[in-house]
Parts: sequence; C-alpha cells; structure tokens
Amino acid sequence: MNEQQNPSRQNIFPMSPSKIAAFHYADFPLLLRPKSRYPLSKFSLLRDAVLRQGLLPSSQVFVAPDPGEHELLLAHSKAYIESVKSGSLSLAAQREIGFLWSDSMWIRGKRIVGAMLANIDSALSYGCAFSLGGGAHHSHREYGKGFCIFNDIAVGALSLSVRFPKMKIAILDCDVHQGEGTAEILRGVFSVCTISIHAERNFPFRKEKSSLDIALDDDAEDHEYLEAVDSALQFLRKSAQPDFLIYVAGADPFFEDSLGRLSVTAHGLEERDRRVFLLAQELNIPISVCFGGGYCLPIEKTIKLNLQTLRVAKEELAHASLESSNPMQPN
Ligand SMILES: [Zn+2]
Repeated sequence: MNEQQNPSRQNIFPMSPSKIAAFHYADFPLLLRPKSRYPLSKFSLLRDAVLRQGLLPSSQVFVAPDPGEHELLLAHSKAYIESVKSGSLSLAAQREIGFLWSDSMWIRGKRIVGAMLANIDSALSYGCAFSLGGGAHHSHREYGKGFCIFNDIAVGALSLSVRFPKMKIAILDCDVHQGEGTAEILRGVFSVCTISIHAERNFPFRKEKSSLDIALDDDAEDHEYLEAVDSALQFLRKSAQPDFLIYVAGADPFFEDSLGRLSVTAHGLEERDRRVFLLAQELNIPISVCFGGGYCLPIEKTIKLNLQTLRVAKEELAHASLESSNPMQPN
C-alpha cells in the first residue's frame, strides 16, 4: 500500500500536541423527554472546561460542520433519515431514541456526525483529534436508540472506506454499553474491525456481534478492566493491524456512573487511555477520539474524566515528540 492510496501511512508520529483539534456541537439544543437522564449540559460544560483549563486554545476548538445527507446515507436508510428530518418518527421510535422530535433532533443529529467527519479529517492530517461528545453507537441503520440519533462512528468509518478503499479501520469502543448499532451497520464491511469492551448485563439487552466483544461481569475492577483493554490492544496489534483507529473513550465504566455497573476508578480509565494512545503511536496510525456516554451525578465528575482523556493524549504525544527529538537518551 503506498501513501497515495493510504494517507495514514505517512509518518504521523511524532506529532505536535499543539495541533490537536476538537469539534463540538454544544450550542445545538435538543428536546428532552420529561425526567430524561440525558446530560444535555455536559457538552457545553465540557467545551468551556477545555478552554478554561487551557487544554486547547480557542483557535483549535471548532463548531462541528453540517454534513451532507449523502454522508448519513453511508450508514442509514433513506427512510430513517427522512423520518428524522420531517418529524414523521412514530412516538415509539422517539421513545426508543430517548428524545422528543423537533427540528433540533435533525439539526443536532447531523452535527454530531459532522463533528466526527471533521475529527477524522483532522486526525488524518495531524495524527489525533477529538469530538467533544459523539460516539452514538446505539444508532442502527434503520432506527435510533439509547440517546443516539445518527451513528457518527459508522458514518465516519464508512466515509474513510469510500475515500481510501484499501485502508483498514478499527473501532475500539470502550463505552460501558455495547456498541451494537455500530456492529449492526458495519457487519460484513471487511475493511472495518469493531471491538467493544462492555458490561455484559448492561443496556442494550439485545447485543450484536462485533469483530471482538469483551463482556465484563458487574463490578469488574481496574485489573479486570485493564486486562480486557490489553486483550483488545493485542487483537489490534496482531490481527486487525489497522491503518486508522476510532476510539470511543467512554467515561461510563467509572464506578460512580449512574448507568455503569462496573467498578473502574479514574486511575483505571487514565491507564486505559494511556495504553490506547501508546498503541496508536506504536502502530504509527491516526486516532480519532470521541467520548460516548457518561452519566455521573453531578455531571462534573464525568467531565473530569473526559478532560483526563484529553490530558493523557497531550502528554503521550508530547512525550513521543520529545523522545524522537532526542534519540541519544538512554533506554
Ligand atoms: Zn454508554
């Protein structure tokens, strides 16, 4: 495979952490159902915290662009797209998604996908980029589900496949809930490998088959969780050997998460993130990060974990560029 066919095979690393871009859709509203557990405030609080703490300068934090409908069609049926656009979704379909229909469902649903597409473009150029949200992995080809309107991960992977037919893409989904929508949409797409590490007894109760599923028992702690992460990374290293990695850095395996069922600490999640970023460097591949779920009460605890992921990415990338600029240092 040459670089023209596959731009990710250019030397991405070492990259400058000062080039990390992030894409948000925090200012696009949603109509929530009464007593909804969806943490709508998370997205603006996260963006504001990234800027306030100086993790990224405002010149690297962008509003997600509006994608074309043709992008959505990569992963979703025309009938489903039309029903979200026109508001002809049945009440049952709205209940399944978890939001009430209004124009905002269509507008925000698209921007989540736009964030991922821009994230991927930026990662192709600079090695690593973020969606400040995203990870709508419960959305299927024909319907939305579990707070997921359109599947940004599947659209992103399929857009890469169309542009670079020889590129091998891997999705490492570390949200605590199985990425069953992603697995359903990408079933039979041989250039895309799907990996899900999740709590077996958690939502969704009807699981789909990913390329690799690692299901954990309730209350799994750091050592069990990190063992699962290591197995997934070994699978990526030995079997999948991807050219591009989409990483769903879910904060909901955290022991204080209200929808989690696992007992992973902040330190365990930090270690998970570190190992994933190190693997991307080892394989010399771009990595697009999104955050998936996180439902701590108060939501600030989830946001702290998302910020930690961004901090770890910056640390690891800075570390790598330092090492390569100083090749004489001892092992
Ligand atoms: Zn989740």
